Amino acid sequence: MIAEIPSVASRAFEDNVHFYFDRAAAHCRHPRDLLNVIRACHAVYAFEFPVRNAEGEIRMIKGWRAEHSRHKLPVKGGIRYSAAVDESEVKALAALMTYKCAIVDVPFGGAKGAVQVDPRSCSPEFLERITRRYTYELAHRNLIGPAVDVPAPDVGTGAREMAWIADTYASLHPGELNTAACVTGKPVTVGGIRGRTEATGRGLVYALSEACADAADMRARGLSTGLDGKRVIVQGIGNVGFYAAKFCRESGARVVAIAVPEGAIYDPRGLDEEAVVEHRRRTKSILGFPGATSMARATDALELDGDVLVPAALENQLTAANAPQIKARIILEGANGPTTPEADDIFLERGALVVPDIYANAGGVTVSYFEWLKNLAHVRFGRLGNSNEEAVVNAGLQQTMAAAYRDIREALRRRPELRDLRTAAFACAIDKVARTYLEMGIFP
Ligand code: NAD
Repeated sequence: MIAEIPSVASRAFEDNVHFYFDRAAAHCRHPRDLLNVIRACHAVYAFEFPVRNAEGEIRMIKGWRAEHSRHKLPVKGGIRYSAAVDESEVKALAALMTYKCAIVDVPFGGAKGAVQVDPRSCSPEFLERITRRYTYELAHRNLIGPAVDVPAPDVGTGAREMAWIADTYASLHPGELNTAACVTGKPVTVGGIRGRTEATGRGLVYALSEACADAADMRARGLSTGLDGKRVIVQGIGNVGFYAAKFCRESGARVVAIAVPEGAIYDPRGLDEEAVVEHRRRTKSILGFPGATSMARATDALELDGDVLVPAALENQLTAANAPQIKARIILEGANGPTTPEADDIFLERGALVVPDIYANAGGVTVSYFEWLKNLAHVRFGRLGNSNEEAVVNAGLQQTMAAAYRDIREALRRRPELRDLRTAAFACAIDKVARTYLEMGIFP
């Protein structure tokens, strides 16, 4: 049964993920009970733990880890630090991880973690104490480890937090050989892999190249093939947005607008993301960037004239309210869940190509998989030959993104009833997870 889209304008992110799943599942020939196994979030752990702040006061901090599917182990998914995060959001993100790993053939189940804290309002020392205590809470419950559950960065976290996690886990498991593989996205000096920091943004641009290489798909949207000269609008200039902008620019596209919470800037001649970030660091705002038009309402930038829109901030950004005004012909989903089902329908009706999150931003988890392999092998890729690690990683990433696009595009060509790339991607993921369950069985 295809679920009806509820009429509420902004629904929970988790409902949206279920909606997309159900829409694809209706086209998959699997029994309903098996589909229910795949769709359900198998475990959510919620904890509250005390941490002392700089003033010596004890604060209770909320944390979660959701393990959506253990059909393959370890499970994998980032850790989000945000004041607004809640359990439902963590479950939605964990579900997307299951489907994402299946699409890019990364042999992991899906998971996600979160801590309810605004990292911008915390000192590094307080954040370190929170991160180490959160890791302890996970370790204590067997929710982290190279063979069970391997976190990574997400919104509000990065290599620094991953290093603290790896160090805490290693301290709690003295004598274990493979502790570095308990988390990915670490600095290279702590067992990370070259290319992981850039991987999600780089993967997005590989995904865009695949989409733009299809002459018929481009012609249908009045676009030429290739990235050259494409006008790109980026929302969010954190890890994903920054590297998406950088690799778009380096591939010949023009980043004409960048939107962040305090506003947006627009320059049809193209923006240099490094200079923009430097200006924002110095002046504490993106507004006033030399040579660009400043816009106080960040959301206005999404509706500017452009060919590609890259939402790379948060979920539920493209909705029924702004989708009709969005001019971009390609929506490249860097963020998880940026498009609501209502907006998704509007894009389809207007002939825009949506390259969906569960495929488009899978570059991060792909290179995290390479990092995990490196940690288990205890050797840098290329060390036993004469290639360089970054080149090996980027080639592996490119092949992965190209192969997954072919699978999804081919599924849509073969089964036009799947209607769009998102539904086709979900259907591919469902088929792969279903096959694992059918072959493996259910125990006990
Ligand atoms: P980040 O914390 O590095 O950056 C998030 C950025 O979004 C920040 O620049 C923030 O200012 C901006 N932002 C927040 N609200 C905004 C708004 N309303 N308008 C404009 N900008 C806004 O996080 P990230 O790692 O870049 O993650 C961004 C998205 O990509 C999330 O949805 C995340 O789940 C997804 N993602 C991240 C990775 C990864 O490897 N880091 C992988 C896959 C998907």
